[in-house]
Amino acid sequence: MNTLVINCGSSSVKYALFDAHESVLLQGKRERLSANEGKSHQDALNELFKELEAFDISAIGHRVVHGGDAFRAPTPIDVDVISAIERWCPAAPMHNPYALMAIQDAQSRFPDLPNVAVFDTAFHARMPRRASTYAIDHDVAQKHDIRRFGFHGISHEYAAGVAAGFLQRPLDSLRLVTLHLGNGASACAVEYGRSAETSMGNTPLEGLVMGTRSGDVDAGVLLGLCQSGGYSIEELNTLLNRNSGLKGLSGISNDLRDIEEAAAQGHDRAQLAINVFAHRARKYVGAYAAAMGGIDAIVFTGGIGENSASMRERILQRLEFLGVQLDLDRNRRSQIAKDEEYAVISEPHSRVDVIVVKTNEERMIARETQRVVGTETPSDVPSIPIAVSARHCHLTQETFEKLFGAGAEPTMDKPLVQPGQFACKERVNLIGPRNRIDGVRVLGPLRSVDQVEVARTDEFRLGVDAPVRDSGKVSGSAPITLEGPAGTVKLKEGLICARRHIHMHPDDATQFGVNDKDEVSVSILDGERSLIFGDVLVRVKDSYVLEMHIDTDEANAAELGRGASGGLSVNDIDSDGGVKQLGKGAYQKKEKTV
Ligand code: ADP
Repeated sequence: MNTLVINCGSSSVKYALFDAHESVLLQGKRERLSANEGKSHQDALNELFKELEAFDISAIGHRVVHGGDAFRAPTPIDVDVISAIERWCPAAPMHNPYALMAIQDAQSRFPDLPNVAVFDTAFHARMPRRASTYAIDHDVAQKHDIRRFGFHGISHEYAAGVAAGFLQRPLDSLRLVTLHLGNGASACAVEYGRSAETSMGNTPLEGLVMGTRSGDVDAGVLLGLCQSGGYSIEELNTLLNRNSGLKGLSGISNDLRDIEEAAAQGHDRAQLAINVFAHRARKYVGAYAAAMGGIDAIVFTGGIGENSASMRERILQRLEFLGVQLDLDRNRRSQIAKDEEYAVISEPHSRVDVIVVKTNEERMIARETQRVVGTETPSDVPSIPIAVSARHCHLTQETFEKLFGAGAEPTMDKPLVQPGQFACKERVNLIGPRNRIDGVRVLGPLRSVDQVEVARTDEFRLGVDAPVRDSGKVSGSAPITLEGPAGTVKLKEGLICARRHIHMHPDDATQFGVNDKDEVSVSILDGERSLIFGDVLVRVKDSYVLEMHIDTDEANAAELGRGASGGLSVNDIDSDGGVKQLGKGAYQKKEKTV
């Protein structure tokens, strides 16, 4: 199986063809492409596909810079993926449009081949919210998708993986700081295999000093330039993206080689550029070590990270307190051998290893593409919306009247997703042997049996031991006292911890290949804490709408209901104990049902 990788940059197209053993069959780069003059991206793609005529291809992987936070893993490209890439074009105008061009070109030339999008944002999509959130007005942030996405994820993940290989330790046991220092530059705190923090933010402009980009700047400066400097948006864009960074600082070039040469000859601004670059990177290493509570290794990659020994030395100066001991000789002659992926430049007894990794985004994209194509799931199976049920009760007419007064009727507050069901305005207090829980919602309509549903945490608070039960099966369940404005009712039984279940219309059941009363597993794959829920009961009825119900403890365990999105798949444990995947799709956030 040969995998083609296409990596479209703002002015370049890189490509590589790998066989199933990751050997390179063909590799190339077309640079200085421009929509207006000389060769265009389309010309480069035409040349590439001409060159490929002699080869068999079985899958195509595309690097996509911006996928927002919806994509947390490499994804087979379909119409939804294409529209998502389009959606993020304004946020990545130099990259996403060219990736789309390559995808659409590849699809039209090879309509039968699978295309996979490998996103630069995906590795960071599970960053903790404390790292991805800007401290600006919450509503404004929500409305305009202002959060930190992070970029260079493919490179950070690859470099972290190579470092773990050298250290002979699993990635999920390591705390690494990876520094991708190329024309674009970013740092990443890779904590136990995940991006815990990264320096690029909502756009690739934040963070480190780059070739022509400023990295961190006080936002007040921009306000000032607009207000009193008369700058337009376009001028600001040019200033920050094209005329800043190493180029703006040095006044010489965006290429570190030129700057290092000038600095050696005493050029003051070149020296300043180098100092600012190194100082900023060092600050980030220290900050990330603090964020992770320590580090095991620092990893350099990208053109500068791989080639500039003096920049590495500067960045690592004063980091002895973290346990970093650079071997100056090894650093200076750290040329990575042709067939090697990395070189180690720290002292053998350094507590923190320092590793230089040859970046290889194409290899990473090929690897991910092969993995995705090998495990592709049917894409027409829908996702399952999840509703998080807070504690609530279903009451009989008799109990309701005892609590709220003779002749009282439940008053609807808001309808629930399941047809005919609603949350009532009425609330009751639960009184247990240890504590009470006030203000518990009543759900309508009234039923023939009283049933109070709480989470495990509630039980401990109340001091009762309620069994996990299917709804309606309250016989032998726990006693509980209900208190309403008109009276108190002591239920001898009725308190349960509801078993997680999925409501399905018969059509949904057919689509998932399950029947009423089946037990299935549901995977929350993409949350901050992925989780597989086992023993999920399927309930099929004509009147049901597809929806899984879990309680607040279960939602918290998977960090659902707090995060804005995730991924969900339905699994079925097959006869030999493996998990058979039935469906995959986006988890839809729902407000609590009650
Ligand atoms: P891109 O982000 O465009 O892929 P690269 O990763 O190729 O860029 O990095 C380009 C940067 O690497 C440039 O600043 C270049 O000066 C720097 N670089 C490459 N080789 C050396 C070297 N031998 N010494 C110092 N800097 C180098």
